[in-house]
Amino acid sequence: MKFGGTSVEDANAFRNVTTIVSSAIAMRPVVVVSAIGGFTNQLLASVETAVDNDARSATRSLEDGFQRHIAIANELLADAARPAFDTAVLDARREIRQLHKIIAAHPVTAPPLQDEIVAYGEHLSSQLLTAVLEESGWAACHVDARRCIKTDDNYGSATPLPQTDQVTAAELLPLLTSAKIPVLGGFIGSTENGVTTTLGRGGSDYTAALAGAALHAREIQIWTDVSGVLTADPRVVPEARTIPVLSYQEAAELAYFGAKVIHPKTIQPATDKSIPVRVCNPRTRREAGTLIVSESEAAPQTVKAIAHKNGITTVQVTSARMLGAYGFLRALFEVFDRHRTAVDVVTTSEVSVSLSIDDAGALPELIPDLEQLGTVEVEKRRTIISIIGEGLRNTPGIAARVFSVISDINISMISVGASSANLTFMVDEAQASEAIMRLHRACFEEATLTSMARHVSA
Ligand code: ADP
Ligand code: ASP
Ligand code: MG
Repeated sequence: MKFGGTSVEDANAFRNVTTIVSSAIAMRPVVVVSAIGGFTNQLLASVETAVDNDARSATRSLEDGFQRHIAIANELLADAARPAFDTAVLDARREIRQLHKIIAAHPVTAPPLQDEIVAYGEHLSSQLLTAVLEESGWAACHVDARRCIKTDDNYGSATPLPQTDQVTAAELLPLLTSAKIPVLGGFIGSTENGVTTTLGRGGSDYTAALAGAALHAREIQIWTDVSGVLTADPRVVPEARTIPVLSYQEAAELAYFGAKVIHPKTIQPATDKSIPVRVCNPRTRREAGTLIVSESEAAPQTVKAIAHKNGITTVQVTSARMLGAYGFLRALFEVFDRHRTAVDVVTTSEVSVSLSIDDAGALPELIPDLEQLGTVEVEKRRTIISIIGEGLRNTPGIAARVFSVISDINISMISVGASSANLTFMVDEAQASEAIMRLHRACFEEATLTSMARHVSA
């Protein structure tokens, strides 16, 4: 059971989590928790302040975050349990202060030390939740996730090593057999040498999936601030509604193309072990939310959702050398490989290749290398829009319907068929919301209106 930042933002949210965990005791839950809402952002910002050589302000900027933890503890823990948690907060503050000082003096140490600092978010929230569950009489047991999730040393976005499965099971199974509730922080791990790492923003979902897979859990539950995976991002389409069932592939595509509700890497461990993933909301806990299961069980005949990702950069490389030649694409992708830049979408024409990238941090170094291969054009502030659903395969006319409702909006890099579950294209960021709202109306709202109208007239 993974609880996200908004599910542990204040004392009331912690109470709600306690109620939900309590009602699942018979199923022997393992609890994974994110940092309390907003604290990861504050921790990351504090590192930047330290890099700017202001260690004092860096630590001071976290005061409000520390106080929020203390306030929750004051409200929910009895006198006997409070000192231990207050000490944990004081220790965290002291250690972070030291780390800020080191970063200010030697900014090159920032990447690994940033993970060390950011990890305190999950470290504190998981200790607090353990104490709150114990306060309610449950045999909760804090587990340092860094002992379970073993990763490479790609700080900020580390990849779990194969032994994670076995190590996690060895840590958690004895607790479960002795009727304890393991509580671990999401998002954090450590290298084989014990150096702290993190799994990338939103990575607590991934921790839950790794733990669930290691234990062959009956279900991996992602508790968040929306009632499941919705037909579109509710911040763009307020009419978006819960999708009852998704296939693993649909969910993975949705997450990859921007549906923040699940971290893109969450689905793989679940798929590997065929474990259903449920996404639901602690505030509406009686609703079933979304269930993510294998293809055969997941209503394959329909279009399920629209995902989008803003802040995309597209790069077009044009070269007559590409015409009928081999080796060109290899050379092109080698450049991206060398600069450790992931490519999301690729389309090609006779003499040009267009690629989209999410993280354009390495672009200044990338472009000169690409210019060795051809003329390079870069466009920033683009949005990838993806229509997702296994039903795309067997819904005739879907592309015509999609493109007709946005015929006045300039689109590029249309990609379809790479996966049967996804139709993807690019628009300018300024027109993205309008395009998504129209597409949602055409794919989900009008269909409902038509079927409702038919129902009424019948
Ligand atoms: P948590 O802190 O629980 O991990 P996140 O903020 O990471 O929560 O993810 C939940 C948010 O994802 C929602 O509040 C919503 O704004 C956003 N979101 C984007 N696309 C979707 C979608 N298709 N369905 C549901 N939520 C989505
Ligand atoms: N706390 C981390 C973040 O904000 C991880 C997570 O919430 O999943 O990115
Ligand atoms: Mg999240």
